[in-house]
Amino acid sequence: MSFRLFDAPLREPSQFVGFAGNTIDRQSENRADDSVDQALADPTTRLLLMNGGRLYLKLGNSSLDPWFGAAESQPFKISLADGVLLGFSEQGPVLAVPAGVDAEQLPETIKAIDYRSVYMQGLIDEAAAGAMAQGAALLAWHASHRFCSKCGTESQMRAGGYKRHCPNCGTEHFPRTDPVAIMLTATREKCLLGRGRHFAPGMYSALAGFIEPGETIEAAVRRETLEEAGIRLGRVVYHASQPWPFPYSLMIGCFGEPLNEDIQADLNELEDCRWFARDEVRLMLAREHPGNLITPPKGAIAHHLIRAWVDAE
Ligand SMILES: [Zn+2]
Repeated sequence: MSFRLFDAPLREPSQFVGFAGNTIDRQSENRADDSVDQALADPTTRLLLMNGGRLYLKLGNSSLDPWFGAAESQPFKISLADGVLLGFSEQGPVLAVPAGVDAEQLPETIKAIDYRSVYMQGLIDEAAAGAMAQGAALLAWHASHRFCSKCGTESQMRAGGYKRHCPNCGTEHFPRTDPVAIMLTATREKCLLGRGRHFAPGMYSALAGFIEPGETIEAAVRRETLEEAGIRLGRVVYHASQPWPFPYSLMIGCFGEPLNEDIQADLNELEDCRWFARDEVRLMLAREHPGNLITPPKGAIAHHLIRAWVDAE
């Protein structure tokens, strides 16, 4: 006997977003405090090297390789004390480690490329992009949480980077991820898209905003849509989520059902916000819009929300 909730074919929309291909077994509950040292003693260990929002990539004949061995990493002024154990892949342990050589000083065979370009341009495979997102988020969290938020003492990394311990007051601090709601407000005929001030030319996307303390996802979707566009929402349904390492968010994608039509855009947040008919959005997705308007690229969850709506006739 099957349970109705799970009757639909198992095809989670989150499987198709950028950074979703992470296959690392984190084992975050079973870690010793010397787990980074243990991993470094294992010759199969692979490192991702990161510096200032960029990932180091080795130039191969036809591809870019993000994986470094421990010995191979030495010339890049890596800071092992600040490295984190992401977990274990089929090939062995995986670490993310801050490196200290700036992009201009790297040898010609190594490039340091910002995370966004790595994923937008599909420079590495999906499993590596997922590992990069995990490592980027963890290194960014540690870099901005060096001191105990309770007593101000410098805290110490523990459990291979899965917590920080305060030696003065004993508080343990755990890496956080910030939930962001991203929502496509839509009827059968049209959807609501906005343009942020820093968007690429011609790009329109789903509205988004941080979920605040004490809010449900649905309440945040309704509040943000009302604040940014003056549109009140009825039903809100969850669609998919996406790890978003800028610096450590989780994008939570939803659809919202509008109760009014008249847009009152918050022009502090948005440059423009309007309704788009399905045919116009189809042209934007196909990069065939006569006014060169476009939707976000494939790796972005906004793209998948928009695509799912266009396809759901
Ligand atoms: Zn403390």
